[in-house]
Amino acid sequence: MSIIILLHANDLVKSELLEAVEKKFPEIVQTASELIKIPSRNPPGEEKHCAEYIYSRLKEFGLETYLVTEPFSSRPQVVAVVRGKNENAIMLNGHIDTVPEGDPESWSMDPFSGKVKDGLLYGRGSVDMKSALAIMMHVAEFADINGNILLTFAVGEERAEPGTSTLLSYVKKFDLNVKYGLVLEPTALNVASCQKGGVWFKIKLKGRASHASAPDQGVNAIEIASKVMQAINDYRILIAKKKHRLADPPTCTVTMISGGFKENVIPDKCELVIDRRLVPGESGNAVEQELRLLIDRLQLDYEVEKIGSREPVEIDDNSAIAKAVLEASSEATGKNAGIVCFPGATDNEHLVAKRIESLVWGPGNLNKAHAIDECISIDEIKHGTVALALLLKRLLV
Ligand SMILES: [Zn+2]
Repeated sequence: MSIIILLHANDLVKSELLEAVEKKFPEIVQTASELIKIPSRNPPGEEKHCAEYIYSRLKEFGLETYLVTEPFSSRPQVVAVVRGKNENAIMLNGHIDTVPEGDPESWSMDPFSGKVKDGLLYGRGSVDMKSALAIMMHVAEFADINGNILLTFAVGEERAEPGTSTLLSYVKKFDLNVKYGLVLEPTALNVASCQKGGVWFKIKLKGRASHASAPDQGVNAIEIASKVMQAINDYRILIAKKKHRLADPPTCTVTMISGGFKENVIPDKCELVIDRRLVPGESGNAVEQELRLLIDRLQLDYEVEKIGSREPVEIDDNSAIAKAVLEASSEATGKNAGIVCFPGATDNEHLVAKRIESLVWGPGNLNKAHAIDECISIDEIKHGTVALALLLKRLLV
């Protein structure tokens, strides 16, 4: 009897939520479109107007909202708190910045039109990740949950700048127990319980200049670079054998090269930039040691500089957040959501580092992100909205 009453109560909650989403949905798409119309390219880091828009809308909704001018005074971030009855909180995280649009002539329409055509919302940021920002904003507006929601809208994600990491320190003042986290990057509503990391190195190779008519009197730094590239190719074949339950194998690729300054001079310098992607279980420091050993064996005159690093992340598929998101997402779409590895680095690295049980999940196809004619299905925005509303209702009881 009690189970029947409970089921009935759940159905009631769900139908009320569906009704609330249905009522709000045109406004959610409108907000996503407005966000696309306000460019927030990074580089150069022009999130300001978009952040101010988010701040003023959340204020309009009556939410406790803050404009955070750290770490960059000219690039504000936004935080809002929806307070519940107990101290447990979920942090919803999204980034305001987008990559630049590229050549606008390559687009079939204005990259900042925010237009809906044939069931798709178009524009730079539609997938990555302004539709998700709109969902976060509006679900927080009508959510009615026992715990607390912390909304964090970060700058600088596209260039691995300290946006979300600064916000994680900022929110300490609310004295909430941030148990769960959700980073709303596009996963096509699948649950990314892990993500790959990346580490980037600049390798400076030294040779000796001479007249190009007497190359043996010099040491050609570009020829040295070709030996390093061969070694990296062998290394890539080796690491491709590493297995992970969800992630594709690690990779290592030369992505930039520069050397030489005149056609008749043997080059004395050559620089390579290497992109090494990590699977969960690997660390940036260990990989740096591997690469140093690899080049040491070639007995060259070189320097290595680590120019960036994002650690891989993995949480248990049986964690409360993974199970709850999987269930809510499957229920909202009517088909089973998958458990996947997010192939790129995200700000979830910072949440997990703070021991928040957190994963990546959101609407949109990652293949459309950063692409010409970036677009997202309106149906998927709706499914994402329903799923997030269900999750918030059920997770923080
Ligand atoms: Zn993103």
